[in-house]
Amino acid sequence: MTDMTHDTTLTSWVASAQTPGCDFPIQNLPFGRFRVPGGPESLGVAIGDAILDLRAAATAITWHTDAQWGLTLLGANDMNAFMALPKIMRRSLREELSLALRTGSPHEHALHTCLVPQSQAQMQLPCHIGDYTDFYTGIHHATTVGKLFRPDSPLLPNYKWVPIGYHGRGSSIRVGPQSVKRPLGQLKGDAASPELGLARRLDYELEIGAFISQGNELGDSITMDQAEDALFGLCLLNDWSARDVQAWEYQPLGPFLSKSFATTISPWIVTMEALDPFRVPFTRPEGDPQPLAYLDSPINRERGGVDIQLEVWLQTAAMRQAGQPEVRLMRSNFRDAYWTLAQLVAHHTINGCNLGSGDLFGSGTQSGPNPGEGGSLLELSHGGQAPLTLPDGSRRTFLEAGDTVVMRAFCERTGAARIGFGEARGTIVG
Ligand code: CA
Repeated sequence: MTDMTHDTTLTSWVASAQTPGCDFPIQNLPFGRFRVPGGPESLGVAIGDAILDLRAAATAITWHTDAQWGLTLLGANDMNAFMALPKIMRRSLREELSLALRTGSPHEHALHTCLVPQSQAQMQLPCHIGDYTDFYTGIHHATTVGKLFRPDSPLLPNYKWVPIGYHGRGSSIRVGPQSVKRPLGQLKGDAASPELGLARRLDYELEIGAFISQGNELGDSITMDQAEDALFGLCLLNDWSARDVQAWEYQPLGPFLSKSFATTISPWIVTMEALDPFRVPFTRPEGDPQPLAYLDSPINRERGGVDIQLEVWLQTAAMRQAGQPEVRLMRSNFRDAYWTLAQLVAHHTINGCNLGSGDLFGSGTQSGPNPGEGGSLLELSHGGQAPLTLPDGSRRTFLEAGDTVVMRAFCERTGAARIGFGEARGTIVG
């Protein structure tokens, strides 16, 4: 499934794309929306430490006909319409961008004027997110959190049969860096009645976000054979969570205000095409049930997973003042998810529910299998019982004012160019 755009020997005339560890080499080419202060919003492609402004690039050179339609939509700032194009057209544009940005391209001179330094850009939401659904595919997260509440049966009986999810709130999704206000909510302590107060057990959740390309009509379903084409690309997603509000409100219908106050995503959408070299088989542990037929396909078994290394970093206000950088709290891998993205698409639409271009899925918290690999503070602090000690000596069970949470992700394997996601960054206010 890989093509010439993944060639590890490719380099770009944007020299910073070759910096070791750079998230945006020419093999990546993720899409985002930005503006420079005082300027209009534009869609762009990240390359090295710069952005190729597609509004300017659409007319700066004569593009190959196959790429022209996509560029017309992107140049007109219509990301959702571009996302809905057939995969073959999106792939054509990727090939054209790869050709235009590679070393020796005849378009270097003309496109050089279309570059904007990322340091000058204010990132915006990449597309209109009509609907947002949060899933629960991290089995190690579900098990660890389940143990806190139900030591004898941490996983509920449906977990290995149904991709569990709930409808989230799209209006409060922002790209990082985001300032997140500590929410008010109903808190229920030992007293007979709950009280309204500021959440004290404020947490993050490390997730992958998945954007839908082409959706489906109401009443139709997207089958497993069609589901990969219904995915546009991925980002990082922080599902901020107020655990004390959640504990009181979540039964019987699931989380509500404990999640809807804020969600932070990383600004760049890494396309499914860029992720082709990092697809891995979907497997089930021995003894676990195999998915029902509508959640199964040969392609999914062969390459339904995605090998993405995930990290959470934390910097307290005191660390920032002392000039200390963020410290890494954990690492996990998206390949450990219990359900694949294609299965989430097929399951979401099996009842005829319609998805739209630009809709966003959250994967659920991606924790690793071992202690210390929890994708939330709830896990890392064992439900608030075991505080973490940070390099500056301070301790954390949950987030405090001024804490900055940074999520990072990258794909790396022998025989492929390393690509990264940038970061989803958010700071707690109050
Ligand atoms: Ca979540």
